[in-house]
Amino acid sequence: MQNVSGEMDISPTRIMRLLQLEAAFADDTEQAAGYARKALGADTPWLCAGCLACTTRCPQGVDIAGTMDVLRQEGLKRGQTSKSKRARDAQALHKSFLHAALSSGRVHELSMMMEYKLRTQHFLEDAMLGAAMFFKGKLHLKPHKGPGTDRVRGAIAKLKQQNNGGGK
Ligand code: SF4
Repeated sequence: MQNVSGEMDISPTRIMRLLQLEAAFADDTEQAAGYARKALGADTPWLCAGCLACTTRCPQGVDIAGTMDVLRQEGLKRGQTSKSKRARDAQALHKSFLHAALSSGRVHELSMMMEYKLRTQHFLEDAMLGAAMFFKGKLHLKPHKGPGTDRVRGAIAKLKQQNNGGGK
């Protein structure tokens, strides 16, 4: 499995083991919760690149990348904060992306980047890269609307309604 320059605090293999232990100790809620807390509190899910190398090669057919995604979502729900700067930045980017996608049905990269900068306070980091992207036409001042944007917005509104208990 890829390790981001040794920055993952718990290896993905150990994260899987912690989750197995959580399931194995289901009868002992305190012990099980301890294993879950350890997996959820790790920076590893935030440093996982989602490259799927582990998932496609796992001889047991375990979707490790998908599990990392679930851990990220659950960590966010529980207000878990990451320990390393890199993991915190990844968390800020994740939140900015989700906010941009869920609020308009389509990500406007410039708004998303601005939100990310506000969250991280790294205003000058990657400034040159941002300028280069802008001059290459990769960042647009106004949000775009694609052919399926309205359908995506409708689906998001429906999901939000369901999550608020208004759905069937
Ligand atoms: S999906 Fe994540 S855990 Fe799996 S190999 Fe890629 S970076 Fe590592």
